[in-house]
Amino acid sequence: MPSGKASNDDYPPKLTASESEQLLSTVKDWSIANGLAVRPPVSLVKATADPHGILATTAPVTLFPSPFPRVCFEQAKSIQKSYNKLYAAIAQDQEFLGNIIQEILEVDEFIAQLWQVHLKVKDEGYVQNLSLGLFRSDYMVHQNTSDAAPTIKQVEFNTIASSFGGLSSQTSRLHKHLSVLDYSLLESSLQAKDLDLPENESTKSLAAGLGVAFDTYRSTSEPIHECCIIFLVQDPERNIFDQRHLEYALQQNNSPIPVFRLPFGEILSRTSIAETPKRQLLYHLPSNPLEVFEVAIVYFRAGYGPTDYPDDSAWKARLQIERSNAIKCPTILTQLAGAKKVQQVLATPTSPETPSILKRFIKDSPKEIEELEKTFTNIYPLDDSPSGLSARKLATDHSDCKGYVLKPQREGGGNNTYRTAIPPFLKSLPETHWKSYILMEIITPPPVHNIILRNGVLEQGGVICELGVYGTCLWDQGTGEVFHNEEAGYLLRTKGDKSEEGGVAAGFGSMDSCRLV
Ligand code: ADP
Ligand code: MG
Repeated sequence: MPSGKASNDDYPPKLTASESEQLLSTVKDWSIANGLAVRPPVSLVKATADPHGILATTAPVTLFPSPFPRVCFEQAKSIQKSYNKLYAAIAQDQEFLGNIIQEILEVDEFIAQLWQVHLKVKDEGYVQNLSLGLFRSDYMVHQNTSDAAPTIKQVEFNTIASSFGGLSSQTSRLHKHLSVLDYSLLESSLQAKDLDLPENESTKSLAAGLGVAFDTYRSTSEPIHECCIIFLVQDPERNIFDQRHLEYALQQNNSPIPVFRLPFGEILSRTSIAETPKRQLLYHLPSNPLEVFEVAIVYFRAGYGPTDYPDDSAWKARLQIERSNAIKCPTILTQLAGAKKVQQVLATPTSPETPSILKRFIKDSPKEIEELEKTFTNIYPLDDSPSGLSARKLATDHSDCKGYVLKPQREGGGNNTYRTAIPPFLKSLPETHWKSYILMEIITPPPVHNIILRNGVLEQGGVICELGVYGTCLWDQGTGEVFHNEEAGYLLRTKGDKSEEGGVAAGFGSMDSCRLV
């Protein structure tokens, strides 16, 4: 375990066995009482012990908020609206996206299928120009030398199914709750006034983004039925409470918004398209199929990876949604804008002669471009461009590869290859497939310590923190007009420093909140 820097040496405080017990008993009850929860993994509760799946357990969470540099936190929050604007502009630029997709089409079947669905709808003509993004930009802290000022470097930008906004505001509340009494009673007496714990309204802010899009649909689309929002989900879903928090926030509106959960596999049986030029998406209640709602928004918490598309009917279902009048969160173009290949094209180091590609998307605001570029770390293609060829050398060299992570065009965790595993992995692929991967420099944040509660067990040690900042954006794909653009709270995910992957749902990371230092 690496030793912390001076300010972190005594944080979090060493706990006696009875202090651990005390904190654990507060956390286990508060988390269930407030929905900081997940369905237990089958490794913990066998299906036979819980045949109706009614049990819930505390989401993996840290006992203390992790120290996080205030300058980095402010930097990440202040840049979110520029990121929203950037990705809304990329989603509108079919020429730019088309060129990138073209390069990976032949070796990435999933991306090719998504693009096909877009082309089909384009041929027929899109009926809905409004587009909604609930985004999350992920970062790690980077520090050149121990006395250099820390900055943030972007890990990835999520444009589909950006999760944990519902649990993350609860985690901030949990740590605030612990700071009121529990921390102060420890032998090392940690006082609330010494802990700078920022507000985190991620649930409210994400729901507000959905709310604005819902109101805009109703005022612009002349609905023919009562309107609703569909949460398109995986089934079963262990991270269900994260999604429920958003749903419940929408129902706390002055006029509650009807929300229905629709498993991806049931799109074709539970929705239809009205036979009108507008192609409204209709949702039929399973309990009474004659009861019909008009779908104002389809919010995707599924459909981001190939496993949700086991056969042709799943692609028919995606097409049904894409060609409908419902506002998609996201559209296929917005989903593709979040491809890692796009991030690489934005971040590939430019020479003094070649102007930044960001100028194409952010007009007349060099300051914003400069701030965005500060968050980029080096990412290389593995194609046969000059930069790709030199990256191939790095990736296949047994020593150079140690500074890199190799990523395919996938979302959801568990898809990357790290460091010395890269050369043998690449060798196992035909070289023609290499261009669908990107090579990214590993970001190594300064060491931090914490205690993680996972599946009822406490794990203490060195941890790595990843900050995500949410953003909501509603724009017109036709005119480019942006109707709503907001920063929407944050997520801190923390993993043991021996683990490469950090996804909470994928089972590697835990929920955390920031103690600003
Ligand atoms: P996914 O779309 O699967 O979430 P990510 O790009 O977010 O893919 O990578 C998954 C995880 O791998 C991240 O949460 C982070 O923990 C780790 N990771 C990814 N890129 C880097 C990097 N450049 N440096 C250090 N860790 C990284
Ligand atoms: Mg990620």
